[in-house]
Parts: sequence; C-alpha cells; structure tokens
Amino acid sequence: MNMRKTKKSIAIILGILILVAASVTTGYMIQVRTSEKQSKSVSAYKGMKNASSQSKVEQRPESAVNNETIEQEQPAKTLVREFKDGPLKYNDKGVPILYYHSIDYEKGNELRLPKEKFREQMQYLKANNYTTLTLGELYEFIQNNKPIPEKSVVITFDDGYEDNYTNAFPILKDFGFKAAVFMISSNVDNTQFKVLKSTELKEMEENGVEIESHTVNHDKLSELSYNDQLKTLKDSKEFLGKVLNKKIDYICYPYGMFNKDTIKASKEAGYIMGFTTVGGWADKNDGIYTLNRVYVSAFDSMEKFKRSLTNPNYDRK
Ligand SMILES: [Zn+2]
Repeated sequence: MNMRKTKKSIAIILGILILVAASVTTGYMIQVRTSEKQSKSVSAYKGMKNASSQSKVEQRPESAVNNETIEQEQPAKTLVREFKDGPLKYNDKGVPILYYHSIDYEKGNELRLPKEKFREQMQYLKANNYTTLTLGELYEFIQNNKPIPEKSVVITFDDGYEDNYTNAFPILKDFGFKAAVFMISSNVDNTQFKVLKSTELKEMEENGVEIESHTVNHDKLSELSYNDQLKTLKDSKEFLGKVLNKKIDYICYPYGMFNKDTIKASKEAGYIMGFTTVGGWADKNDGIYTLNRVYVSAFDSMEKFKRSLTNPNYDRK
C-alpha cells in the first residue's frame, strides 16, 4: 500500500467533509435569519389610540397605532450619550419635542419665527440647564427606557427652510445644541425656493443637526394607497441617505397626516421612529411611530413657551 496515496485520499475525504459541514451551517444560518425576519414582519400592530390633534397648522391625524411592542432595530450612527449626572428620568415620564418651521420673520405668518425670538428661547433652555437630545437618545429613552436628564428637550424643524441653516444653525452652534431637520427630499438643491442645499445639509449633519425624512413631496400620506406611501417613504429615505452618506432612521409625517398603513409602510421602508403633530409631550404610550410634539408658533408668548416645557399638559392649541 502506498502511504502517500493513502494520505492523499484521507486529505480529500477530510476536505469534502469540511465543505459539507460548512454549507450545512451556512444554510442553517440563512434559515434562522429568514425566520427571524419573518417573525419580525408578522409582529402584530397592537392597540389603537384616538389621536386628538392640537395643531391647527397641520392636519389632524385620524388614528395612531400603538406600536411600542414591535421589535426594533438599533439606530444607525446617531450619537447616544450615557447620562449619569443630576436628576434623571425614565420613560414612565414624557419629554417635550419642540417643532419649528421657518426661523425668519414674516408678518402674520405663524410658521415663521423671528430669529431673535428663537435665540431668546434657546437662551432660556441654556439658562435653565436643559439638555437637547439627539434623535438616537430619544429613541433609546422611549424604546429601551434609557434614562435622560430630567430637563431634556428635543428640537426639530419641519420642511427644510434655508433659514434653518442661515438663522437657526448659528444660534444652535452658539449654545452647543442638538437638533433635527425633517427635510422634503425633492427640495434638496432646488434653487426656485429658499430651501436647504445638500452642502448645507451635510454641514449641519456634521455639527449636531440630524437630517431626516419628511417624504419626497410633502405628501399627504393618509390620502395615498399603501404602495404610494411606501414609495415616498422609501425614495426619500434612499435619496437623503445618499446625500448624507448615512442611514435615515426617522420619519416625520407631513401635515401630521397618517393612518394605519403609514405606520406599516414606515416600518417596511426601514424607519424605526415616527413623528406627528399631535400636541403634548412624547412618551412611550404614544407608540414609537406616532410621537407627539410641541408646536412652537411665532405668535406664542415666552410664557407659553416656558409652560410647554415645564407642564406636560400645557395649554395646547
Ligand atoms: Zn411639513
């Protein structure tokens, strides 16, 4: 018997065995991942809540799905700090999410807040030791009960007015504040309107202002078919993701309009958290895809602004 031949055939048999073992394992892993995905996608949308809208600017949502039980993926790369000092709170309490539009005075337009008034509000937040949360921190708080400072606030802007860059951004930087802009994706680099350009979006994103989706064309989601909703949710996510080279995780529904399909389509498109225009502080009972926000009108007094930050049941309108 030739020893070299025997050794060679043993080596071949071993090789085949390893290959078979490897392919069986891979197949198994693929199966496990697929069934994981399937079990995620069939997660039930539990419970309905009647949404009572407070804002007269954007339309009232019809209903919200309480989806806090849905399994979630983790946010992409947004900053999530560990808060340890000072009084903290957990998600049995809420957090005010302010929402603005334009930061530029225009007579008689409640959507356009003069920048001086915006600075005064930011100054108030600073003087009173408020922490401005990133959307990732908000997500971790609502979804995973990660504690946040008792005096926390989230600052958001809808639509993507260019004055968010020229007027609001320098003020936010002065105070070292985090914020987020929900951008209408078809408006990026549109020279017909005073809207944010891709260079401005990138600069803001790199300096503490997250850019997230507000659909492609400021679409009235609840008036669209499921597939059309999915399309605008996906397309805006993909477009902004390319511009900013990041995963777009969050969606804000234009006019505050959404329905059950919107929640389902947002999830299918890959968003992990959604924002409405229903007034009041956001908390876990809202559902992660249907978070309340605090509307800041240009007509509001400083006293009202303070009340909306200190009282979860401020005089909403
Ligand atoms: Zn809007």
